Amino acid sequence: MRVMKDSLKEVVRLDINLSQLQRNVDKVFKLLKPGVQFMAVVKGDAYGHGLAPIGIALEGFGCHSLGVVRISEATALRSAGIKIPIAMLAPIMPIQVEEAVKLNLTMMVDNESIAYELNECGKKYNKTMKIHIKVNTGLNRFGVEPAEVSEFIKNIQNKYKSLVIEGIYTHFRDPEFNRDFTNKQIAIFNEVLEKLEKEGIRPTLAHAAATGGIIMNPEAQYDMVRCGILLYGEEYLKDKKVLPKGVLPLTTFTGQVIKINEVQEGQPIGYGDRHIAARKCRIAVIAGGYGDGVSRGWKQILINGQKVPILNYAMDCIEADITDVAGDVQEYDEAVFVGQKGNECITWEDVCYGLHSEVDEQLQRITCRVQRNYFYEE
Ligand SMILES: *Cc1c(COP(=O)(O)O)cnc(C)c1O
Repeated sequence: MRVMKDSLKEVVRLDINLSQLQRNVDKVFKLLKPGVQFMAVVKGDAYGHGLAPIGIALEGFGCHSLGVVRISEATALRSAGIKIPIAMLAPIMPIQVEEAVKLNLTMMVDNESIAYELNECGKKYNKTMKIHIKVNTGLNRFGVEPAEVSEFIKNIQNKYKSLVIEGIYTHFRDPEFNRDFTNKQIAIFNEVLEKLEKEGIRPTLAHAAATGGIIMNPEAQYDMVRCGILLYGEEYLKDKKVLPKGVLPLTTFTGQVIKINEVQEGQPIGYGDRHIAARKCRIAVIAGGYGDGVSRGWKQILINGQKVPILNYAMDCIEADITDVAGDVQEYDEAVFVGQKGNECITWEDVCYGLHSEVDEQLQRITCRVQRNYFYEE
């Protein structure tokens, strides 16, 4: 790896390749029609990759705005010096309005009471707040009903002079697997836009597509896309490869062999009765457990470029069977939970196999004691 040696101070590490992030961003830009804006979604600690470092990198790579769902995420980004617009993609509580105004956020609005609060607070701070009206086209989570959008917008325009309706948007329910439903959502959204246009209303930014829409529905780019998981290069659908060529993962998650033991047949390995040696074997105890984000149920780890079975789990370490590994395994060797080593690779999609879990959920579980190393390829 191209990680600087003196940065390797912790036994469990997550290496994050910002050169690859840049390539992924460039690939997504190539999918966009001229003039379409690129909102990079960094909610959930940038899908587990680290909010501030990823946010700063994405701003540098030319993304137009960042998308979050918590005020705390927006606060962290502004504290890190992010200057581009930050959009709240989920509802906030009235007690959070003041913070939203201070941070100059672009707000999702789908009910009048929050519009009222934003307007009052905007007046108090002498600020104009940009808002995007969300339209419910079938996800049935947030959003104004299509038939009510026009009245809703006119009411806001009339009453709340500290608000500027910059955008209007919707969110797809199942773009990868349900083309018909997505097409219906697009048709409903188009109808809303057409009706508004007839009334002389056209917010600057109409948008609908997240990752699924970007890949499956190029006709639905409108003025902006909201790109999340695609940025991080993960094949996020268990049984389907959908990523454009060259969009690749950013992370390598590694532990270290901290002890090698010989265990006799019939002897237990690790806590409880979870694993009893079926033969005489060599066991590597590897730093990295559920206290680091290694879930019970992960099946394999890479040692010496070979996949070996994980036998047992604890908070701080796992035990793996290295009896059949070719070549010498030594204490302080690196072991790869997720990533590439030699010709072998374990992906986040692989670790989800057989678990009731998904890639973004597993990535979120990497805990704060894991050392993050951000690097650019030389
Ligand atoms: C999370 C989210 C996105 C990004 O979704 P991906 O599928 O990860 O690209 C976009 N828009 C909204 C409203 C979201 O909540």
